[in-house]
Amino acid sequence: MNNSVKIELAARYIREGKLVAFPTETVYGLGANALDSMAVARIFELKERPFFDPLIIHIACLEQLEKLVLHPPETVYRLAEKFWPGPLTMVLPKSPLVPEIVTAGLPTVGIRMPGNAIALELIKKSDCPIAAPSANKFGRISPTTAAHVKKQLPNVDYILDGGRTTVGIESTIIRLTEYGFQILRNGIITQENIESITPYDYRTEIEELSAPGMMKSHYSPRKKLLIADRKIADIDKTRAGLMSFSGQLEHGYLKVARLSESMDLKDYAVNMFEAMHAFEDDPEVEVIIAEPVSETGIGKAIMDRLRKAEYSWRQI
Ligand code: AMP
Ligand code: MG
Repeated sequence: MNNSVKIELAARYIREGKLVAFPTETVYGLGANALDSMAVARIFELKERPFFDPLIIHIACLEQLEKLVLHPPETVYRLAEKFWPGPLTMVLPKSPLVPEIVTAGLPTVGIRMPGNAIALELIKKSDCPIAAPSANKFGRISPTTAAHVKKQLPNVDYILDGGRTTVGIESTIIRLTEYGFQILRNGIITQENIESITPYDYRTEIEELSAPGMMKSHYSPRKKLLIADRKIADIDKTRAGLMSFSGQLEHGYLKVARLSESMDLKDYAVNMFEAMHAFEDDPEVEVIIAEPVSETGIGKAIMDRLRKAEYSWRQI
C-alpha cells in the first residue's frame, strides 16, 4: 500500500470512531475524532490514562480552530503564522462543540497544527479535528517510531507508519494571559522564540491546576533511570547504558548511545526517547544513566523530560 492509500484507510477508521496511531513531528499520537466522545473515551481506555488529564486537539487549518475556540485573540493568529504547522500547543477558551471528555471538564482546550505532512493529510481526509495524546501507555516512554507504538499498544486499530519523528519530544504548551503568555510545558520552541511575538507574562501566577497531567513522574522507562548530575558512583557501569551528549562520561559503560555528534541539543531531543526505548529493550542493560545538559533554551525541555523519567526511580 502506498502512503496515500494508507492515509485514506486511516481516515476511514477515524471517521468510524476507531483509534489510529499516526506520526507527528514531535512523537507518535494516538488519534480519534475529537468531536466523538465515545471514540475519545477509547483513547483513555487503551492508554490507561486518567480522565483528569486533558488531550490536545490536532487541526489542519485555522477554520477548524475557529470552530473549537471561542473568540481567538489576534495574538493567536500571529503565533499560528510564525509557529504552525509546528510543535506549539495553545490553550484557549473552548467552544461548546468540544466534548468535555477531551478537556477533562476544563473550560479551555489545547490546540495545535502538527508539522508533519502525513498528520495534516490524515486530519484533512478524516474531515474532523483529531484528539491525540502520545501513543504510549500512560506514564511510559513516548514513541518516536511505529515500532515503539506497537510495543506498548499492540491492540490499536491502525498504525500509520511515517518513519522516525523529527523533533522527538512533545510540543511546547502555552496559555495566553492579559499580559502575554506563560509556558505550561517546555518543548523545542523556547520562551525566547515565543517572545518574538508576545511578551512572557511574569506577573500572573500559574495555578497548579492550569496544566493538569503534568505529573512529577512521566516518560518513565521500566528500568531504573538516573541523571548523572548527583552522585552515581555506586552504579555498576558495566551493567549500565549511558545516554551520552558530550562524550566525556563514556568510559566504562556497558553500552553508550551517543545522542549527538556535534553537541547539538536538538539532537538530544530527537534521540532521547529512542535511546530510552533501546536500553529498556536491551536485556544486558540494567540501569540507564542520562547525561544532564544546562537548563537553557531547549535544555529546559530535555531536563524536564529526564527529571520526570527519573522521578519514581529516585524514590526507591
Ligand atoms: P500530551 O500528554 O502530549 O497529550 O499532552 C497533554 C497535556 O497537555 C496535558 O497533560 C496537559 O498538561 C496539557 N493540556 C491539554 N489541554 C489542556 C488544557 N485545556 N489546559 C491546560 N493544559 C492542557
Ligand atoms: Mg504523553
